[in-house]
Amino acid sequence: MQIIRFLEDKKSKEPKWGWISESQIGLIEGSPFFEFRRKPPDRRLESVSLLPPCRPSKIICVGRNYAAHAAEHDTEVPAIPLLFFKPPSSLVGHGAFIELPPQSEQIEHEAELAVVIGKAGRWIRPETAREYIFGYTIANDVTARDLQREDPQWTRAKGFDSFCPLGPWIETDLDPTDLLIACRVNGQIRQMASTHDMVFNLAHLIAYSSAIMSLQPGDIILTGTPAGVSRILDGDTVSIEIEGIGTLENPVRNAVLPPHLST
Ligand code: ZN
Repeated sequence: MQIIRFLEDKKSKEPKWGWISESQIGLIEGSPFFEFRRKPPDRRLESVSLLPPCRPSKIICVGRNYAAHAAEHDTEVPAIPLLFFKPPSSLVGHGAFIELPPQSEQIEHEAELAVVIGKAGRWIRPETAREYIFGYTIANDVTARDLQREDPQWTRAKGFDSFCPLGPWIETDLDPTDLLIACRVNGQIRQMASTHDMVFNLAHLIAYSSAIMSLQPGDIILTGTPAGVSRILDGDTVSIEIEGIGTLENPVRNAVLPPHLST
């Protein structure tokens, strides 16, 4: 099943849950993470504004989880998963702008498979990790590469508003072990790999993370990006396709600054 969060139109302020059936949407009453009821499809997918398909309490990210990406930055694959966070305020949905902040000269896309946690867990064993997965979606771990090089921690480089496009929906029925990930900028291919090339697999990442912090329903783990990351510029469009899920597409523009900064 494909689960979305959406607004009926641009003016609406009331997010709704829905499920997709042949480009139609049915409402979901309740929360898909807890008790819910599916209503029959009654509106068209194109008629709504998609939101990030979950509301994570935290966005856990994994650095250098594909050997070829570590190599393109002259770094080693870590011996243990390299974890960092993105703030929930960095989330935007399918179709929303990635806003380039003036503090950086080198902002890059990172196409990633995102795992959505379905039930609370702590000290999860790798053998039972699957039971904690609600589904899968697509993330773009947008990164200010120049700022990342300056800082030993990556909060600034990874944390700007709009630096975590997520969606377009959560796919709940999927085998994630060998999915093609492709990232295109303005239609040109930049990244292409299989999730099979991950250094640490999903079960390992869930077990490892949950031994540090409690995972909550709706939390997401971004599982790292393959090689081929490249700069994005004002006017570009970034499309990330993952086999079995769909395509997350976001236009790029320079951040609109408040009046006291935009002289
Ligand atoms: Zn990343």
